[in-house]
Amino acid sequence: MSDTGAPDVSDENPLLRVEGLQKHFQINEGLISSLLRATMGKEADYVHAVDGVSFELERGETLGLAGESGCGKTTTGMSLVKLHEPTDGRIEFRGMDLTESDDEELDEFRQNAQMIFQDPFESLNPRMTVYDTLAEPLRIHDIENETARIRRALEFAELQPPDHYFDQYPHELSGGQRQRVAIARALVLDPDFIVADEPVSMLDVSLRAGVLSLMERMTEEFNLSVVYISHDLSLLRHMCDRLAIMYMGEIVEKGATEDIIENPQHPYTRSLINAVPVPDPDVGRERVELAGEVGDAIDVPSGCRFHGRCSEYIGDICETDSPSLEQKAEFDDDREVSCHLYDSCGKQS
Ligand code: SF4
Repeated sequence: MSDTGAPDVSDENPLLRVEGLQKHFQINEGLISSLLRATMGKEADYVHAVDGVSFELERGETLGLAGESGCGKTTTGMSLVKLHEPTDGRIEFRGMDLTESDDEELDEFRQNAQMIFQDPFESLNPRMTVYDTLAEPLRIHDIENETARIRRALEFAELQPPDHYFDQYPHELSGGQRQRVAIARALVLDPDFIVADEPVSMLDVSLRAGVLSLMERMTEEFNLSVVYISHDLSLLRHMCDRLAIMYMGEIVEKGATEDIIENPQHPYTRSLINAVPVPDPDVGRERVELAGEVGDAIDVPSGCRFHGRCSEYIGDICETDSPSLEQKAEFDDDREVSCHLYDSCGKQS
């Protein structure tokens, strides 16, 4: 048993196993439209944000979720830590099915799974001091040695001396310091699993390297399993053992990071690697720009969801049959790809 009382990670169970995860959001509509819909007997419309995502994460492993804005990577990350309730699918943590868990097991999970958000200014409560920000999760989970734990977490996050930061509010800190506080808050509970959503995209370029090296150290010293979410493949290449490329709520390619970057197999992954990041004044950070429009996430395209933008389109099958994510005979690594190019009927020469 771990010191938190949870069952130990057995060899048979990965730390996290996700099977067929779905998250659909009902479209907000006005009273009149919803009455009209009800009168006409029409079903409500849903955004298919995440549509059948499956993967495993071992203890100490880092997985990158990559894709353009709106591909479902952040919704996947939030579902993993139960900030969204999945519409369907199964999430197992240390072999425990979170969809069937009782309150005590969920409390245990919440202690072990943390999230670092992209904007530390929004994720920290402006009315709470650094000390109270870190004390809050300890008090929720009734954990002792509050001050010692807070001091240790701040020290680890290189906020020195830690006591100097106790009474400070977020607006008194720099962007880099705020993200370090967010990291310290995630670590104060000694978690096993962290989701880091674009953790440096809101920071000045000059501060990114320092925060990334802190996160690398955090992963190593705490033997953490981390899901990194980013559009930035060079960042994910540096931080992650494996990559999962997402398009319109689905994983289209999955495998070891270097294999994917050096030899991408899915047409979307190839486009993503060739795409140029461009500054986005609306969100103050870079986004990836690919040719063509992303399909409709409400009325999802039939067949392969990428068919409207695919430069390697091979015919009707791309519009009629949905390819499944699987290992193909061609690959000598553990790569999985969802594309008809590798089916016997559409096999690439
Ligand atoms: Fe392109 Fe067809 Fe493969 Fe989809 S299935 S990525 S449309 S070749």
